[in-house]
Amino acid sequence: MPSSGDAASRRPHVVLIPSAGMGHLVPFGRLAVALSSGHGCDVSLVTVLPTVSTAESKHLEALFDAFPAVRRLDFELAPFDASEFPGADPFFLRFEAMRRSAPLLGPLLTDAGASALATDIALTSVVIPVAKEQGLPCHILFTASAAMLSLCAYFPTYLDANAGRGSVGDVDIPGVYRIPKASIPQALHDPNHLFTRQFVANGRSLTSAAGILVNTFDALEPEAVTALQQGKVASGFPPVFAVGPLLPASNQAKDPANYMEWLDAQPARSVVYVSFGSRKAVSGEQLRELAAGLEASGHRFLWVVKSTVVDRDDAAELGELLGEGFLERVEKRGLVTKAWVEQEEVLKHEAVGLFVSHCGWNSVTEAAASGIPVLALPRFGDQRVNSSVVARAGLGVWVDSWSWEGEEGVIGAGEISEKVKAAMGDEALRRKAANLGEAAAKAVAGGGSSHHCLAEFTRLC
Ligand code: UDP
Ligand code: UDP
Repeated sequence: MPSSGDAASRRPHVVLIPSAGMGHLVPFGRLAVALSSGHGCDVSLVTVLPTVSTAESKHLEALFDAFPAVRRLDFELAPFDASEFPGADPFFLRFEAMRRSAPLLGPLLTDAGASALATDIALTSVVIPVAKEQGLPCHILFTASAAMLSLCAYFPTYLDANAGRGSVGDVDIPGVYRIPKASIPQALHDPNHLFTRQFVANGRSLTSAAGILVNTFDALEPEAVTALQQGKVASGFPPVFAVGPLLPASNQAKDPANYMEWLDAQPARSVVYVSFGSRKAVSGEQLRELAAGLEASGHRFLWVVKSTVVDRDDAAELGELLGEGFLERVEKRGLVTKAWVEQEEVLKHEAVGLFVSHCGWNSVTEAAASGIPVLALPRFGDQRVNSSVVARAGLGVWVDSWSWEGEEGVIGAGEISEKVKAAMGDEALRRKAANLGEAAAKAVAGGGSSHHCLAEFTRLC
């Protein structure tokens, strides 16, 4: 360990340990760049190859190319037999494989000469003991909302208090708000689900973390950030740093579909951008209702369609997915692509007026940073919790009676079209979203709350 004199003068070396999936990797990349370029830290990023998706491997390649100061630490996982979890989500399986391999991180960290770690929530309970053995502070970068962090921190207490009472109901988080039963991530209703076991173990271990960074900002989630920082959610909680919205780190190779050129040709704020993130398919039936709803709205749209959980598996034809004749009928005002688009660039484009989103947390922070209103169409996981944040903050609209995965029914074309038309014509909503965009810019600029929090964090590294 360095002496205290050395500690005052040394440059922190933060080793970042993300888990799998773009939703986790993207904010880790952004944090790597912010610490390395803006806050005087040495940064290493732990990389597991091969990645689950092509999007992840391309993203890593582009990141290391554009930011050679960020060091790459290759991590080889121990053999893992996935047959123990038949039918499990491939990203959850990777979480589990990484969790089981965590003890192997020790030598990697010693060789790297780390002064601190920041890991993902999915790995928290297994990385903290490794960090302890190495005498290193272990921080968490929570890549979802502060509301979700508060649920993660409080859920084990809720379960203990509810033991024997059966199923999970509404969860009233101290100092935050009540999360209705219907918004609790689907998996958490099953105590034996792989995700639930990880979620509870990680939630219990949060009080042993040195600090928690959250990709959010005060104006977006005032209640949850304050409650967490004041220790109202869980006693003995570590310092919480709201450091968002973390800004883009690098651009990926340009998509040959030329969607930016197409956007350039559209009038200001005339386009509805539709995307459901990187890692979950929307059911065929719902896709077709969405297609009909967009068509009936009469608006222009740019739609990124995914039909499989992992991009490598996606061989379906758009025409088949969206219904006969759809692409031909909307040719003049709609661009539909299965390719990866640079979402940040799309959201910043002046032609875009509305984002129909699944409300993955990165998408929400990107919409907030761009000041673009959101029409929330959550499908699974933390997306209803995030949709509620969107509605509370005035960033967008969410119809909480709309179904999501695991519930009966689909959201009909008529309802979708009506909400799209209403949101596109809602001046007050547009203004509120734009105001949040300004608040986001202020938070991350020098002197802003998120900038200040990140500087405070580096002092602990
Ligand atoms: N993304 C993108 N282009 C795409 C699909 C996704 O740039 O075609 C990015 C998006 O901007 C976000 C991330 O991938 O940064 C997806 O994370 P999010 O939390 O929104 O959703 P998830 O994919 O985890 O469900
Ligand atoms: N999460 C959590 N604890 C865990 C694993 C995940 O709190 O042990 C959070 C995660 O940050 C996200 C939500 O649970 O908010 C759903 O996770 P998942 O990986 O399904 O979402 P993704 O971001 O990959 O779409």
